[in-house]
Parts: sequence; C-alpha cells; structure tokens
Amino acid sequence: MGRYLLPMISVLFSTWSAVGDPAGSAHVDGAPPSKIAVVGAGIGGSATAHFLRQHFGPEVQVDVFEKGEVGGRLATVTVNHHDYESGGSIIHSLNLHMQEFVKVLGLKYRRSVAGKTAVFNGEEVILEETDWYLLDLFRLWWRYGISFIRLQMWVEEIMEKFMRIYKYQAHGYAFSSVEQLLESLGGSGFINMTRRPLSDSLLELGVSQRFIDEVIAPVMRVNYGQNVSIPAFVGAVSLAGAQNNLWAVEGGNKLVCSGLLKMANANLHQAQVSSISPIYSGEALQYRLSFTTSAGPRSEMYDIVVLATPLQASVQSGVEFQDFTPPFDELAGSYHSTVATIVHGYLNTSVFGFPDPRLFPFASILTTDTPHLFFNSVASVCPVNISAGFRRKQPQEAGIYKVFSPQPLDKSQLKTLFRSYYSVQVTEWQAYPRYGSSLGLPPVELHPNLYYLNGIEWAGSAMEMSSVAAKNIALLAYHRWNRQTDMVDQSDLMHRIKTEL
Ligand SMILES: Cc1cc2nc3c(=O)[nH]c(=O)nc-3n(C[C@H](O)[C@H](O)[C@H](O)COP(=O)(O)OP(=O)(O)OC[C@H]3O[C@@H](n4cnc5c(N)ncnc54)[C@H](O)[C@@H]3O)c2cc1C
Repeated sequence: MGRYLLPMISVLFSTWSAVGDPAGSAHVDGAPPSKIAVVGAGIGGSATAHFLRQHFGPEVQVDVFEKGEVGGRLATVTVNHHDYESGGSIIHSLNLHMQEFVKVLGLKYRRSVAGKTAVFNGEEVILEETDWYLLDLFRLWWRYGISFIRLQMWVEEIMEKFMRIYKYQAHGYAFSSVEQLLESLGGSGFINMTRRPLSDSLLELGVSQRFIDEVIAPVMRVNYGQNVSIPAFVGAVSLAGAQNNLWAVEGGNKLVCSGLLKMANANLHQAQVSSISPIYSGEALQYRLSFTTSAGPRSEMYDIVVLATPLQASVQSGVEFQDFTPPFDELAGSYHSTVATIVHGYLNTSVFGFPDPRLFPFASILTTDTPHLFFNSVASVCPVNISAGFRRKQPQEAGIYKVFSPQPLDKSQLKTLFRSYYSVQVTEWQAYPRYGSSLGLPPVELHPNLYYLNGIEWAGSAMEMSSVAAKNIALLAYHRWNRQTDMVDQSDLMHRIKTEL
C-alpha cells in the first residue's frame, strides 16, 4: 500500500502549513473569542486544543477539562516495572495527523518487534504466518483464490480517497457534519459504506465467504470486538489497521495527548463537567460550563465549547444540556465493552495444539467468530519503551500477554489460557461504538458555538479519526466565529484546490 501512496504523502506534507497562521485571523464580526473550553483530554480533546490554538492564535484562553487521566482511551498499565498499552495501541503509517504530532512534539517512533500471527477456530490453528513471504502469499492464494488481492485493492482505494481530507484541511476547509465530510471524500459511496454491512460489500466485491470467515472476521474481532456485520466503512478502517506498516509512540501513545496540551498552552482542569447552558446577553452568546473539582462545584463562562468525549448513555460522561435542546433527544446506540487483560505468565500453548511451548512459533493469535470462544485474541506484547537489546520472550518463558475478550476472564478461563501466571491486570473499556447499520451519524454542531467531536467514531473509531475530527472542529469553529461561510461544506473541493494553486 505504501508504495502507491508515497508520492501523494510528499505532496500532502508540502501543503501542511498552508493554513493555520494565527496572525492571519481577521475577525470580520468584532472581537475574537476570549475563552474556549474543551471537555475531554483524550487524543480528540488534546488535538482540538492544539488546533484551536493554531487557528485562534496566542491570545485566546483554552481550558481543557478532564475527569480521569489525560489520554482517555490511550492508556498504559505497569507490569514488572514496564508499561504496556492497554487501550489504543497501533497507528497506521498513513495517519498523517498522528505522524505530524509525533514530529512536532519531538517524540519517537517505537521500534516494532517482529512476531508471527495465526488464526485459531476454537479447536485448531487454521491459518498461520511463516517466515517466508512468498510462501504466505502462495498459501493465501491456494486457500482463498484472489480474494486477498481484491480486498487489498478495495482498502487501498478507500484509503486513497480518505487521504483527501489532509489536503482539504491543509487548505482550511471544514465540514458541518460527518456526512458532509465523508461525502466530500468519497461521495455517496462513503456514506453508504457507513450503513451497509462489511460482509455484503465484500461478497459483492467477489471476496469469498471462506476468506471473510477465516481472515476478515478475526481482524474485526481483534480490532473492534465485533463481527463482519459492522458497517463497511469502519470495516475498512479496521482492515487498514491490520496491515504491517504500523507503528506506535515510544514511551506510550498517551504522550501525544500530554504533549499537545502543553504545546497548546492549554489550562488543564482536573474536573468533571456536569452541565452546559447557553447564556444570552443581548446579541452575545456564551456558555456556562458547570463542573466539579476536588474543591467542589464551580462554573465558568465560555465563548466556544467543544465536547470531546462520547455522549451515549452507556459511556456515562455525566454531561447534561440545560436551557436548550440539542439536535437529538438521547444519542442512539451504545459503546461496546472490550476487556483488555494483561497477564504476566506462561501461555498454555497446548490450547492451540502445541503441547511443547518451544515449538509454538506465534506472537499473536486471532480467533474466528466461533460460539463459546471466550476471547477475541491473545498476543505477546512489547513494553512502550523498547531498549536496544530487547527481544520478545519465547513461549516457554514467562512473558507479558494481552487478551481481548467481551467479558472479564474468570479464573478457569485464565487457567485455560495460561499454565501459570504471576499477575493479571484488567481494564474494562467502553471501547468503541457497538456498530449497527441503521444508527446514523451523530451531529457535529449542537448549538451555534457548541461542537461535538465523537460522532466521527460512528464512521470509524481510531486515534486518527478523532484527530481528523479535531482539526475539522477547530476549522469549523474558526470559520463560524468569523462568518466565513465559503470555507464550510464546499463541494467539488479537489477541483477548487487545483484552481487555487
Ligand atoms: C482496547 C482498545 C484498543 C484500541 N485500539 C486502537 C488502535 O490500535 N489504534 C487506534 O487508532 N485506535 C484504537 N482504539 C480506539 C482509540 O483508542 C479511540 O478511538 C481514541 O483514543 C478516542 O479518543 P477520544 O479522545 O476521542 O476519546 P477518549 O479517549 O475516550 O477521551 C475522552 C475523555 O473525556 C473524558 N471525559 C468524559 N466525560 C467527561 C466529563 N464530563 N468531564 C470531563 N472529562 C470527561 C474522559 O475521561 C476521557 O479521558 C482502541 C480503543 C480501545 C478501548
């Protein structure tokens, strides 16, 4: 994939700083905003604070509210003095916002440590990676015909279209809804992909049912804990995340969030926001944000507010809207619970048909959609800091493993997967949307200067998706504030950009 898109990347980087010059923020309609609030300090909220600073300039006060830890779903757990990612862990090489953050923050890419993957169907390993790339290709072709080539081409085409967003954003264009954003990238095809099951799209493409069951389903299970009926668009995001040109941040992905907040010179409030209400004084509109800190309840007024946390009831953000009705009663849908269990112990390789652990060649096991299988994946994981001499532990040694499952593992399940263990750490995530085909995409604009970031997760949930939404909201807020309607929801952007150059 990288080969086709490399020339495009250099074009994108060359236009990266074409907008966002704060000195150029001319305020058509009076004063600039003096205070902006962002609720949530995950990658979405931190990136929003950073982009708001870029667009609104150094004078505006940016306050970020976080009720838990900076990083949100980017988090680590400590085992034996080393930290391991327990939430969002991998980043695609074409995720240009994440790349740019790492670059400007002076962070480093984490070295990847090779390891083979296999697929387990509950009884035996049905597909395994070998040391030989050509042999793997031959085996794929033998078992699935040209399904994998069709799939590769499909994912590439979608990514190529998706990457238009970087150009649009570099030229300052914003979208008032996720639908408008997707439509500008991939026309009605992209919108349909958010409504149509992945399996239907792939079957229509000529991908075989066997390939869907044995390759696609395991990828959906490890990345989203769900099956192949999830919408095609998020399916494609997930398949892009299953390629081998992936990376992570040395020291932990959450360093990007703390770094962005610092660079944005944002004030971080350790506080839970409880309500937002619009306050009018004559023509002027502000929002009263009520929140609770360790010192008790307080409230502050803001000109612009960005909500960068899921608002579905199951996530329990605790944010209420007062004195106005947002464009929904209660957001439809819920979040999927995925449990990440980090185990320090000895993997029971005999479960996978390898009684002798020394002969077990795999670092990761994915699973097919098999009833009664209690886990989605198990993988030997590397710490967030990889020293020069680091090597992956052999299966006969005690190692660190991450198991993803829909429910917490009970003792007997742990005993099934591990011969013995020293420690078990469990993180129960409201991880990503529980995708369905008829839920629709939540709105971005909830009130004139009140924006919602996490609707984009219903198209696809990933660090880069939140970053794309962050840039979009910063641009949208800026254009709305300055009444620049010609920079929002414009059609035929590819053509416009060409003629602008
Ligand atoms: C187990 C797991 C694995 C994943 N793997 C990957 C992966 O490999 N690659 C990838 O790209 N993505 C992955 N993801 C998805 C990715 O982590 C998320 O899409 C992304 O981190 C979402 O970021 P966000 O900032 O939008 O939301 P969040 O990270 O959820 O941030 C929202 C923040 O708002 C705070 N908050 C909520 N309510 C309030 C309130 N009332 N007041 C103040 N603060 C509040 C929360 O505490 C939280 O910190 C994974 C997710 C999980 C859970």
